[in-house]
Amino acid sequence: MGEEPRVFNPLDGAVEEELSVLTKQPGLPKDVHEARLPTESVIALDVAAYVADFNARVIGAYEKGIGSQELPADVGVARSLIPAGTAALRDFSYLSAEIPEFIADTCVGCMTCVTECPDAAILGKAIPASRLEREPEFDGTHWARTRKYFDVPARRGLEGALFGIFIDPTKCKGCAECVEVCAELGYDALRMVRKDDGTLERYRRAFNFFRKVGPTPAEYINEKSLADMMLAEESALLYLGGAGSCMGCWLT
Ligand code: SF4
Ligand code: SF4
Repeated sequence: MGEEPRVFNPLDGAVEEELSVLTKQPGLPKDVHEARLPTESVIALDVAAYVADFNARVIGAYEKGIGSQELPADVGVARSLIPAGTAALRDFSYLSAEIPEFIADTCVGCMTCVTECPDAAILGKAIPASRLEREPEFDGTHWARTRKYFDVPARRGLEGALFGIFIDPTKCKGCAECVEVCAELGYDALRMVRKDDGTLERYRRAFNFFRKVGPTPAEYINEKSLADMMLAEESALLYLGGAGSCMGCWLT
């Protein structure tokens, strides 16, 4: 029997050449590549300008009936690339029917809900009590006095910090994973509630306060703990929103 004819693949040559470059030979040291995260926020997105451009260029072209003929393909989408940071523009406010409600009395500040959320939609913060009390928007009912952030720092001579959990209504898709994990741990400090007319406004106000009140001071963050690192939003690229996928409504 003759040899199987080889299927022509125009990439064969390129692949072989690339492989020889990328294969580490025995005994050679490992390549080391330095990667640095910026220390300051990298997202300086002008949402108003983005929306204005989209409305004029994209919506405008479809309104004139020339969208599919004349609009150029988006550079990222045409290559199946999702540019970094685009989740910041995803808004679930009107897509999910429910949102978690925080019950400060039973929260212990474990941060498990924060690390479990697939969308970085639920965030925690520990702020010294006197700093919070100076803020006119401070609502004592939303902040917990926990052993971890209040009693333990106080024993070290620091002022006790109050701990709050806040939900970003634009990023929360209502999947209830945070509620389930908190219940599994036996704390029951979150429950799902249905959104009504005032819900979004209330959550937006609370989340604005979360942003305004500033970061958790470094002395309350244990750098060896992943959970605590989620408190340090100013120093990491953590909070742009995450999966961005809808939880699904089961309608077909
Ligand atoms: S999982 Fe529950 S107890 Fe832990 S921080 Fe979140 S709300 Fe608080
Ligand atoms: S309901 Fe889901 S998306 Fe919303 S905060 Fe909880 S885990 Fe995150």
